[in-house]
Amino acid sequence: MDLSLDPRLDNLRRMVGWLGKEKLRPLGLEADAQGAPLPPDHPFFKESLKMGLTGGFVGKARGDDEARDPKRPRKRVRKAVVMADEAAYWDRGMATSLPGPGLGGAPVAMMGTEDQKRRFLTRFEDTSTPRWSGFAMSEPGAGSDVAAISTRARRDGDHWVVDGEKAFCSNGARASFVVVWATVDPGLGRGGHRAFVVERDNPGMRVARIDKKMGLAASETAALVFEGCRVPAEDMLGGEAAYQRDEGFKGAMRTFNMTRPMVAAMAVGMGRAALDETRRFVDERFGAASAHRRMRAMDRMAAMRRRLDSARLLAWRAAWLADEQRDNAVESAMSKAYAAQGALEAASLGMDVLGEAGAASDLLIEKLWRDVKALDIVEGTGQIQRLLIARRLVGYGAEEKGA
Ligand SMILES: Cc1cc2nc3c(=O)[nH]c(=O)nc-3n(C[C@H](O)[C@H](O)[C@H](O)COP(=O)(O)OP(=O)(O)OC[C@H]3O[C@@H](n4cnc5c(N)ncnc54)[C@H](O)[C@@H]3O)c2cc1C
Repeated sequence: MDLSLDPRLDNLRRMVGWLGKEKLRPLGLEADAQGAPLPPDHPFFKESLKMGLTGGFVGKARGDDEARDPKRPRKRVRKAVVMADEAAYWDRGMATSLPGPGLGGAPVAMMGTEDQKRRFLTRFEDTSTPRWSGFAMSEPGAGSDVAAISTRARRDGDHWVVDGEKAFCSNGARASFVVVWATVDPGLGRGGHRAFVVERDNPGMRVARIDKKMGLAASETAALVFEGCRVPAEDMLGGEAAYQRDEGFKGAMRTFNMTRPMVAAMAVGMGRAALDETRRFVDERFGAASAHRRMRAMDRMAAMRRRLDSARLLAWRAAWLADEQRDNAVESAMSKAYAAQGALEAASLGMDVLGEAGAASDLLIEKLWRDVKALDIVEGTGQIQRLLIARRLVGYGAEEKGA
């Protein structure tokens, strides 16, 4: 496993760093103050595309893998974790709201037929118009326990008809398409799950609301309703072959294995930001008279830095395995569980060290503390990751998201 950043990737990371400082952080603070995401027609989104910065990491949709020089190592997921770490350092909510194939693009790249990849992913190559996609798995009654999803898909001629409700769909209200998980037969549990690509202009899909959240205001999450939503049969991900292999649930889990290292990397970025903010405060406020407080804070911060560095290595290992197309279910769960906890602790440490100043809403640490909790929730909570790890390592059973 190569731990070096090649010069091209390092340049890209620096560019994200520059953009983060100039745009992501100030715009994230603006969204936080307003308690709402930036509107999809905000000029920043066009600007970010012009600079080659996109959300998601499916690369060029057409022939990405075919055109690859087989002698050069595949680095898609590794590149994505480096970018995610840097972008989330500046603002995680803004990082997830960047236009691009995003969360919905990942399952299309993973499970889609060549025709589906062409139809749904090539649109993101046109960088004149910002586009997003969504991933709709969670429901009001089914979060961790994905086997319980009740959104139904029934076959009707050459269409599927989807009915149900989805919760917390990131970028769901602005998505060009949403990948919706539904059951074709509730009696089959996870074996009945299939994924359908629903286009934005489908009259059977509507946005019920955009959620108000304690943190990550810049990142839109939407509740979606599907009523008699007719989806062409050719838009079931993976096509007829995937239907026969009951690919829906397995495909979702394979997608999480690819995206969880990114969530882990984002957590590392946020944890780093919390430590830097704490360090700044300590340098400014703890002079010679508070040398002992300074020493204690520094010691705790050094311990946190070690933890975040370990978390980054776990994320890189999980990403490397994904790029090598090797099983990384345990490694990606480990990276996500460990990094999210690390980031939570880093933000809490910052709040402790800053004391009452930390609770004042004009300091970044308070926003980071509110933002960071979601990292332990999205794409399977910390508890579920730990169940998954336990199940794989010691054979302890679990049925929930990803396990
Ligand atoms: C900011 C944000 C963005 C999101 N974006 C998306 C998105 O784009 N698409 C999408 O589909 N979903 C999205 N989600 C939803 C997210 O995936 C769910 O919130 C998550 O899976 C947890 O589900 P839940 O909220 O229903 O909690 P529940 O499943 O009800 O869990 C509640 C608590 O019980 C614990 N728990 C549950 N089962 C067990 C068990 N067996 N053992 C031990 N503890 C258990 C959980 O860990 C959690 O602490 C998003 C959520 C947030 C906060």
